[in-house]
Amino acid sequence: MKVTLVSNMCTWTKELSTSYIINDNMLLDVPQGSFKTLYCDYDLKKIKYILITHFHSDHFADLHLVIEILKNNNIKNVVILAPKGCKERLYNIFKTFEVSYLINYVEENVTFLECENGKSYKIGDYKIKAYKMVHASLDAYGFIIEQNCVKVGFSGDSCMCNSLHKIIKHCGNIFIDSASTSENLKHLSAGEVKALAEEYKDVNFYPVHLSYNSQKLADELGLNKTHPKQEFVF
Ligand SMILES: [Zn+2]
Repeated sequence: MKVTLVSNMCTWTKELSTSYIINDNMLLDVPQGSFKTLYCDYDLKKIKYILITHFHSDHFADLHLVIEILKNNNIKNVVILAPKGCKERLYNIFKTFEVSYLINYVEENVTFLECENGKSYKIGDYKIKAYKMVHASLDAYGFIIEQNCVKVGFSGDSCMCNSLHKIIKHCGNIFIDSASTSENLKHLSAGEVKALAEEYKDVNFYPVHLSYNSQKLADELGLNKTHPKQEFVF
């Protein structure tokens, strides 16, 4: 499985927020401003599957622009796996940004699947398991994406919680929220990720959703380094 880390940072930096392209055909999260990079540096017309962890703008805000590219290339049988209410929110965005002509394309070509904690979804040749995470009080999810017996974990945005341990126990590699420098109920801190890396020595932890401060701390703690446009093959 190839995972392209389109960017690894959080909102409060000059770099793009965290998103991924899996094997060229799956997009995981669509942060505000990410469309420019996705459009110019990647081949969006190959995207058939879109995963959304939650509806904060740094995960969802540019989805309508990706939909426009899929429509312009007449891409059919698109699947979006997202928390409950994705279609309604997307149509509200269409209305807000005066692109309601996208509704017809979506109605005819896009299937919406709703995330449920512990549920598995067969999407193309992927098996995806959704885990409800703890990110303040939001309906937010992490995923295990499995293909050809390879499983890769994605925490989405989350503080320390049982679901996180479940994801880590099943994966050799996890991209993990490391946004903070101290413990809180929204995000993991780099220190907590360091403790997990010591607890699960066989798992590779890749810190993402970084702030400049948490990136500095992650470096000081000796965590793996990540950078925008980094490619992983698992
Ligand atoms: Zn976020």
